[in-house]
Amino acid sequence: MPELPEVETIRRGLGPHIVGRSITDIEVLRDRAVRRQPGGADELVGRLVGRAVTGVDRRGKYLWWMLDDGAALLVHLGMSGQLVIPPADQAASIAGSATDPHVRVRVKLSDGTTVAFRDQRTFGWLWACELAPSRHDGRYVPHPATHIAPDLLEVMAHKTGPVRLAHAMQKRHSGIKRVLLNQEVVSGIGNIYADEMLWAARVNGETPADELSIRKLAALVRVGDAVLRRSITAGGTSFDALYVHVNGESGYFSRQLNAYGQAGQPCPRCGTVITRRVFMNRSSYLCPRCQR
Ligand SMILES: [Zn+2]
Repeated sequence: MPELPEVETIRRGLGPHIVGRSITDIEVLRDRAVRRQPGGADELVGRLVGRAVTGVDRRGKYLWWMLDDGAALLVHLGMSGQLVIPPADQAASIAGSATDPHVRVRVKLSDGTTVAFRDQRTFGWLWACELAPSRHDGRYVPHPATHIAPDLLEVMAHKTGPVRLAHAMQKRHSGIKRVLLNQEVVSGIGNIYADEMLWAARVNGETPADELSIRKLAALVRVGDAVLRRSITAGGTSFDALYVHVNGESGYFSRQLNAYGQAGQPCPRCGTVITRRVFMNRSSYLCPRCQR
């Protein structure tokens, strides 16, 4: 599942291909991809065709195209969504619905570029919508994202951010991993990066957040930010200019992982075998020695 680093990699890759162009046509191949849009595909097309793209923005796992009328095209990648820009000579085979059954929406731009929204598992969605102030910090974001807290990169942009987030975390009684996954406390973190951050900070994810000191929580926030930034850099280096994509859990980011998915492997820090535990019907991976 794409988390903040994957979505940020897409945001950075997508910008040069779409900003400054106008949307000339949209084909919705599967209505499920626009299921959240009031008015459905017709409304989406009506709001977007003719608009120019002025920027690509992001908060947590939410990515949106900024439009010249002040509205936005919000894209949520769900479990397996991708935004793909096929090379012009392959556009027919990659972005064509006949040959690629996973393309859900195609957006055509004034310079001939096609952006294809591919989504194998169909949890992702697009929504053309207005901006509204966030409930958390007043930043203008697409209105379906106003309940989402700032992400770690935004938190770190303010000098007092880590300590303020540490206080917000410490008010919670649930395990610290659940708190990291709560998008209304801090956004953008999913199962993979939660495990990586907890390993890096030597914290056991089942520890109740209110039993951790502010100092320890602020350290977790800073270490977590570093984990995300390393992954963004890794995604950026292996990024192909012609494709804007994520591969989910089996993608190139897995090469960087120290704990997640590493059951049976030695902890890179102490050599103890990494163990897997059941967590909310999913898995947690940790070093039983480093993360007591
Ligand atoms: Zn260890």
